[in-house]
Amino acid sequence: MTHPILDVLGLSERNPGTYLGSGEWSGTSQDADIQVVNPSNGQPLARVSSASAEDYETLVRRAAQTFTAWRTMPAPRRGEAIRLCGEALRRHKDALGSLVSLEMGKIKAEGDGEVQEMIDIADFAVGQSRMLYGLSMHSERPGHRMYEQWHPLGLVGIISAFNFPVAVWAWNAFIAAVCGNISIWKPSPRTPLSAIASTRICNEALKAGGFPEVFFLLNDGGNALAQRLVDDPRIALMSFTGSTAVGRQVGARVAQRMGRSLLELGGNNAIIVDRTADLKLAIPAIVFGAVGTAGQRCTTTRRLIVHESILGDVVARLTAAYKQVEARIGDPLQPGTLMGPLIDAEAVRRFEAAVEKARASGGTVVSGGKALSGPGHFVLPTLITGVRPTDEVVQTETFAPILYVLPYRTLEEAIAIQNGVPQGLSSAVFTQELKVAEQFLSAAGSDCGIANVNIGTSGAEIGGAFGGEKETGGGRESGSDSWKAYMRRQTNTINYSDALPLAQGIKFDF
Ligand code: NAD
Repeated sequence: MTHPILDVLGLSERNPGTYLGSGEWSGTSQDADIQVVNPSNGQPLARVSSASAEDYETLVRRAAQTFTAWRTMPAPRRGEAIRLCGEALRRHKDALGSLVSLEMGKIKAEGDGEVQEMIDIADFAVGQSRMLYGLSMHSERPGHRMYEQWHPLGLVGIISAFNFPVAVWAWNAFIAAVCGNISIWKPSPRTPLSAIASTRICNEALKAGGFPEVFFLLNDGGNALAQRLVDDPRIALMSFTGSTAVGRQVGARVAQRMGRSLLELGGNNAIIVDRTADLKLAIPAIVFGAVGTAGQRCTTTRRLIVHESILGDVVARLTAAYKQVEARIGDPLQPGTLMGPLIDAEAVRRFEAAVEKARASGGTVVSGGKALSGPGHFVLPTLITGVRPTDEVVQTETFAPILYVLPYRTLEEAIAIQNGVPQGLSSAVFTQELKVAEQFLSAAGSDCGIANVNIGTSGAEIGGAFGGEKETGGGRESGSDSWKAYMRRQTNTINYSDALPLAQGIKFDF
């Protein structure tokens, strides 16, 4: 018997996992080979078939054919197509949000929130479709006009991580689509059901509206086809979201073939709490940032840099708050649950290894530090003091709810600690002093792609460009002018005079 949430979205015990285009899904009941497991109880949820090498070729060929029609459709029409996707997602928000919660283990409110992000980026993309602006320049030659325009790239590969199983796809696929591209999605093998449901909902909306079905999907239990996608010269842009270890390989391979890549990799995000901070704001922001999604967000708060004068008070308040969260760990679909499970047993093992390593470095576990026994991959939210900013465990992103508390004396020291890690995604300061806030945001302040004041590290809005520096990969997605990553710029010069003035006054007499 399948879970009722699967039934609502037309999913069954065995599911074809690859959308080949032309309304055709590949995968038969015999070759279903990704076993999807509910992280809350370790029970199987459903099976999904992996694509074959033959499927891969069919899919890329059909995606390329679809591109030839899609690229010449006026951009505002493409925007209308994405508007229909946003409407369809509104209708399915509750069911899809529940599926994300069931399959990934984030609490229902976060599952729904992820679908809301898809809807928001759809709305954003509709507006963007009328604003793919190029500049016009004054030519230095008489009778000449010069301007730039932006054209679609072609095929965009999207490889996504398990922790945002639908929103990251929508950020990429919707903006890529209004820019005139066709996307091919390779989701995480831990969350293929959310990917199948999202692809279906959006393609069905497009078909009903008389548009081509532009969202291609490729499920792969291993990584052979993902690597093929990365190496395929027909994929103009490879957008990769995942760990730094894998992203480093992806970036190098795409560069080898002179393709474009957009990398959204790991973070090691910190909040600085200065002497003047309003702890009524800071404490909930820290707790949400550190334990939300069970510490499995790229923007999760992993380091807390606290002024030494308030260290005791902050740790005491956090310990009390963590006890409240502990009492509300459980089934992510149950109302009232604040923290769900980690994704799998391997994630629990990594959590335990990090806690051990912190202890070995002289750290003290003030709260948590243990996995829960019983079914499901649950751990306690964990607070650790007494480690040094340079300890290897503090420098590393462990994808679990572990927060290292680090004291500081001067703001310069706090900023140096904040910047002194290989990653550069999200950062924040809690302060009531204008000078502290401005220094933190200045060129000599945070080196991250996201820097906030009196708001935590997680929960970015879609309107801004999202991404980070250093080992986070340098990519930017979602709002602001991130759309430019999905287009190619062309500079055009038109001569409407009767002369041919050569550049730099050169005369060519013949
Ligand atoms: P992961 O790197 O294990 O996997 C990410 C994706 O890459 C999956 O789809 C996986 O199947 C695929 N993959 C694995 N090996 C591959 C290979 N050799 N070639 C091509 N593709 C391959 O990451 P994960 O465990 O799914 O996700 C957690 C990580 O993702 C964390 O490091 C987190 O910080 C990061 N993340 C970053 C952002 C961001 O926007 N910066 C957002 C979400 C997650």
